[in-house]
Amino acid sequence: MNPLPSPSIVHMIAALTDHRDMDLLEASLLKTVDELVAPNWALIYHIGNDEVPELSTSLYDGEISQTDVSEPFSTLFSTKDVTSFPIMSHARKVLGYLLVHRTPQLTSDEQALMTDLFRVYDNYMAVLRDSQIDRLTGLLNRRTFDDQLDRALGLIRRAYLEKASDKSNRKVGEGNGCFFMGEIDIDHFKNVNDRFGHLHGDEVLTILAGILQNAFRKTDLIYRFGGEEFVVIVYVDDRDDAEITFERLRRSIENQVFPQVGKVTVSVGITEIKDTSIPVELLGRADQALYYAKTHGRNQVCFYEALVASNRITVHCAANDVNPSNAAEG
Ligand code: GH3
Ligand code: MG
Ligand code: MG
Repeated sequence: MNPLPSPSIVHMIAALTDHRDMDLLEASLLKTVDELVAPNWALIYHIGNDEVPELSTSLYDGEISQTDVSEPFSTLFSTKDVTSFPIMSHARKVLGYLLVHRTPQLTSDEQALMTDLFRVYDNYMAVLRDSQIDRLTGLLNRRTFDDQLDRALGLIRRAYLEKASDKSNRKVGEGNGCFFMGEIDIDHFKNVNDRFGHLHGDEVLTILAGILQNAFRKTDLIYRFGGEEFVVIVYVDDRDDAEITFERLRRSIENQVFPQVGKVTVSVGITEIKDTSIPVELLGRADQALYYAKTHGRNQVCFYEALVASNRITVHCAANDVNPSNAAEG
């Protein structure tokens, strides 16, 4: 009978698949690498938008962090005693690298062990990535929105705090970058299905998802929220920029000719994400603005804060968070 695998290896594999948060998973992977081969350092890089590897998570002296390293990737990659492991997508595309530096360099047995461990990690990540994506449109799905919103708001809060302590003393929301949430809903989409069939309806959703991806930055978050509803979290220079961005989106959808179906329009409700924003209130506000757009002619972009300021709708939630005169305060 074969001996049982070492409990510590089983424990490590269990720990590796304990989380659903990608950053926590990277930290788990590096901790496992640390326990297995005690490297001098280990780094995880992702291939960025411009095909350049960007540092994601690092391990130095047993400490995990996301701090920058001074050496460029190309130098580290070819450093003596570094072993590199590619991070692959299901389609065998290289998504990034794990670099492990250990003197002496990893033995072939250690490399084989690491490769197996990395396969477990890779497979788990692929399943996880798959579970976060909406199959029809390729956008992030509703479950991912629910999972990520708290964390996204935490990061946004941190960005506001960092900007607030900026030497220039300018705050987010004062022409120095701010975040908005937009809810986008296709107008009379039921008619599209009724007249042209579900398959053509699906095609509209797919094309529209592509227009959304082109309209926003790669770092903005775009979710298919429900059937014909989408939610985006965008970083823009200021409110005028948000207005220009969403209005441009609305117009490009209006100008698109969808095969068979022809013209389709969307209504959009937008609200500013402030450092005090609470998820459920945020959605409530975007919803209220969207409802206003729907009941006032559709095919338009409505700003929650502007609607409140002009008394066209009543405040949705806590006074200090929605009072338009407070809106720029970080
Ligand atoms: P409104 O302008 O008020 O938003 O009207 P609407 O017809 O777009 O809204 P309603 O909520 O009445 O209908 C939404 C329709 O979206 C109903 C459903 O047939 C369609 N739908 C939802 N999910 C899908 C999908 O995955 N594919 C297709 N083809 N249609 C979908
Ligand atoms: Mg609709
Ligand atoms: Mg809808």
